[in-house]
Amino acid sequence: MGKNSKKLHCNLTKSAMVISHDHLVLPCCRFNPTKENNIPTILDLKKGDVLNGAFFSDLREKFSSGDFPDGCLTCEKEEAVGLKSMRQRRGMVEKENVQLEDLEFFVGNRCNMKCIMCGPELSSLWQSEISGSTEITEGSSLEDFKELDLSYLKSLRLLGGETLLNKSFIEIIHWIKSVATPGNIELSFATNGSVGKSTNLINLLKDFNSICIDFSIDGVENVAEKIRPGISWKFIEKNIQEWVTIVKDFPQFEFNIHTTIQKDNIFHVDTIIDFCIQQNLSWSFTVLEYPKELSIQRLSSDDLINAQGKLKEHPKTDIYEGYFVKRKKLDQWQFLTKNLTL
Ligand code: SF4
Repeated sequence: MGKNSKKLHCNLTKSAMVISHDHLVLPCCRFNPTKENNIPTILDLKKGDVLNGAFFSDLREKFSSGDFPDGCLTCEKEEAVGLKSMRQRRGMVEKENVQLEDLEFFVGNRCNMKCIMCGPELSSLWQSEISGSTEITEGSSLEDFKELDLSYLKSLRLLGGETLLNKSFIEIIHWIKSVATPGNIELSFATNGSVGKSTNLINLLKDFNSICIDFSIDGVENVAEKIRPGISWKFIEKNIQEWVTIVKDFPQFEFNIHTTIQKDNIFHVDTIIDFCIQQNLSWSFTVLEYPKELSIQRLSSDDLINAQGKLKEHPKTDIYEGYFVKRKKLDQWQFLTKNLTL
C-alpha cells in the first residue's frame, strides 16, 4: 500500500482519452506528461486497445496501491488544500468496464490571441512572433481514430488554439455525427470569445445532447486585454452577451466562464465574479502553475493575504459567497478567501 492507507481511483484512467497537441494519449487535460514515461501516442490507437494497454493499466495499479500517479500531481495538490479536483469532479464513479466514454481533441493552434501564459504550440500568433512561421499546427488526422470504438462515447471536448477558428473543429463535429450518436454525447469546447454566434454554427451543434461553451476569460476590460492581448474586451463582452441569448430557443446550450488564476488577475477576481453574476453564468477556474513567473506563488505572502482580504472584506462579499453556494462551488470560494496556495 502506498502513502495513503486506502485505495484511490480515478475513473478517467478507465474511460477517458485526451489527445494532446503533441499527439500523446492522456487520461485528462490536468495530467502532467513530463512526470511520466512510456505515454502512448496517437499512433498506438491503430495498434490496439490503449485504455487496456500498459500505461493506463499502470496508472490504475498505482491508484489501487493508494498513491497518485506522478502525472496526477495537480489533482493531488488541489485535494490537499480542499479544492475539488478534476478527479473528484469527474472521476469518482467507479465503473466496472474499461471503455471509452470521454474523448478530448486538440483541434489545432490557429489563434487570434497571444495570451501571456500561452506559447507557440497552442497559439499561431505566438508561433509567428517567435519563429516567423505562419504555418498552422493542425489537430490529429481523423484517420488515426478509425479503430476507436465510439459506441459508448458520452462526452466530446475540443481544445485549441481558438477552437472556432480551426478547420478541424468543423471536421471533427461532422465526423462524430457520422460515426457516433450525437444525441448521447455532451459536447464541450473552450473559446476565447472572439467568434460570435452564427446560425450555421448553432445548426451544426444543436443535435448534441448538450453543448457547453467555456469562455476563457481572465479578466474584464484592461485586465482582459493585458492577459489576453489581441481582441478588445468590448468585442468579446458583446459576443458573450449575444451567445447567451440563444438558450431561450436552444436550451441544450450551456455557457461557462473559465479563468486561469494568475499573478495579473488575482486582485481582480471580484470583477470577473461581477460579470458572471450580471450575465447569470457559471464560473470555474484553474490555478496557473506554468510559466512559474506568472503564478500567484511568485507573490509575497503579504500580497496573497491582501488578495484573500480583498474578497473577504469586499462590500459584496455576502453576494459573492451566495453565488458560490448557489452553484455548489463553496470549495472555490473557500480557496479564494482562505488558501490561495497549492
Ligand atoms: S487524478 Fe486527476 S490528473 Fe490524474 S487522471 Fe484523474 S483527473 Fe487526471
